[in-house]
Amino acid sequence: MNIITEVEKNSIAERAGIHAGETLVSINGEEVADIFDYRFLCQDEQLSVRVGGNLYEIEKDPFDDLGLVFESGLMDSARHCANKCVFCFVDQLPKNMRETLYFKDDDARLSFLSGNYVTMTNMSDNDLARIVKYRLSPINISVHTTDPELRVQMLKNPKAARILEQIQTLVGACISVNFQIVLCRGINDGENLDRTIQELVKFRPKAQSLSVVPSGLTKFRENLHPLSGFTEKECAEILEKIHAYQEKFLNEYGTRFVYAADEFYVKSGTPLPPFESYEDFPQIENGVGMLRDTEDVLLDAFSRKHPKNNRTLAIATGVCAYSFISGLFSEISGKYGYNFNIYKIENDFFGKEITVSGLLTGRGIIETLHGKKLGDALILPKNILRRDTETLLDGLTLTDLSARLGCPVHAVSEADLPKLIGALK
Ligand code: SF4
Repeated sequence: MNIITEVEKNSIAERAGIHAGETLVSINGEEVADIFDYRFLCQDEQLSVRVGGNLYEIEKDPFDDLGLVFESGLMDSARHCANKCVFCFVDQLPKNMRETLYFKDDDARLSFLSGNYVTMTNMSDNDLARIVKYRLSPINISVHTTDPELRVQMLKNPKAARILEQIQTLVGACISVNFQIVLCRGINDGENLDRTIQELVKFRPKAQSLSVVPSGLTKFRENLHPLSGFTEKECAEILEKIHAYQEKFLNEYGTRFVYAADEFYVKSGTPLPPFESYEDFPQIENGVGMLRDTEDVLLDAFSRKHPKNNRTLAIATGVCAYSFISGLFSEISGKYGYNFNIYKIENDFFGKEITVSGLLTGRGIIETLHGKKLGDALILPKNILRRDTETLLDGLTLTDLSARLGCPVHAVSEADLPKLIGALK
């Protein structure tokens, strides 16, 4: 994994004579196990770098990068999770999807590098010491419940009981943390949710935020723990509880600390909180505040740029965002004169309980929109594509959709929509 795939031009490594294709073995006699060893060891000014059978003596400023690029970003395999969580989304995937979708990672290094949430059940004391040594901060932790017995049952892992002790080790060493609770009906909700929120807020100020998100339930749950979704009334009660904590924490600590996923608002028909209530949107990657953020970015983008264009655009979105997106585009249409047709796409592939647009498939979109008047182009949310590709979850591409639907299909970020409208011929 430490194979050097590229030596950057004019870099320190190139000047030292290091070549791509060789393997980095050690720095100053210390074995390099992964990207964090590498970054840490590179901070010295005098380096003896062993690459393959050669030793290179390098002198540099402490924060200068050597200019080496490795085969894998982690310089190691991502760590596999050791749990069997009752709500695991991977276990609810149908067969015959892309192999990478079935990989269950639970790697603190990915938490630091990509913001992934980790349960810490596969971490030894030595792993925790490494996080502290390398100052990997913040770490995003999937807590779910602070009740040790219940956490063991939910994650189906006896090592899940140590969570409070592990969090204390991190925050005691000044590592910042964010938490998430995947809320499962009848399991970690109700009084247990109160206990978890109250125990986690005690880790402030190093604990920065806590999100509460509903478990995603697909229709492929055969032979799994019986779980059902929250009713409208229950979603409203959960929001009431979280809003009460927000008010209390805002008074006591100057931050709301705990936030509910957008899905709870949509399902209960509760109006979304104002933009400012999300503070600096610490949990947006978890779907917390996504709708308010979309509104802010879209309105701002159109206020800066609103090209004259009387084209008609179709906008497709998931069930969760549909009402909000409809209202938003009607406002934009009223202000700037564009024609938008908004289409709600139900998720027949995973089941109707899955309402976010990021999990829509190309086939589902084609089935819903085939034969509809789509106008001059169909616009999809950017998060519908696999990262850095033109491909949707089921392998269909934007070109496939365009061919089947008979109109251009684009997936753009909210900020880029006015530019796209301006570019339409
Ligand atoms: S930690 Fe739990 S939810 Fe995450 S991948 Fe593993 S089993 Fe699934």
